[in-house]
Amino acid sequence: MGSRKGGLGSDAAGVDGQLRWRKRMLMVLMSFVCISLAVIRLAGWHGWEFNRCLFRAVIGVDCPACGVTHSVGYALVGNLRQSCSHNPVGPLLAFLLLAGLAYMGLAVLFGKGLSISWNRECAYAKAVDAGIAVILVTIWGLRMCLHQ
Ligand SMILES: [Zn+2]
Repeated sequence: MGSRKGGLGSDAAGVDGQLRWRKRMLMVLMSFVCISLAVIRLAGWHGWEFNRCLFRAVIGVDCPACGVTHSVGYALVGNLRQSCSHNPVGPLLAFLLLAGLAYMGLAVLFGKGLSISWNRECAYAKAVDAGIAVILVTIWGLRMCLHQ
């Protein structure tokens, strides 16, 4: 009995932790959507341009993530040509962003109904992050080769 009680207790803590994590992810994803949309909305406004990149400033070439904010913003409003011209990974990121938002939103609202284990959810999130990093660097490598 004792061990069963302990098990339930830690399950409850785990569910709370998962909910907190999902809410935080929801905020992060929403911020990224808002920032991307703000950046393309403000682009060219009174000559304002958002393209500060330490890597580019120091090394002189684009970094793997250069243009991603613009690219995601344009993809979100359906302008795929502009999106790809800033960074070809943007449309994929925009899709993942919307999919992540939909999942996290539903998971926060309906919690237990569509719960997968937290460990598995974290594993998926890490796999997606790693996949994005690999794709960004691969596309960047190809772009660097083509521009030489
Ligand atoms: Zn950059």
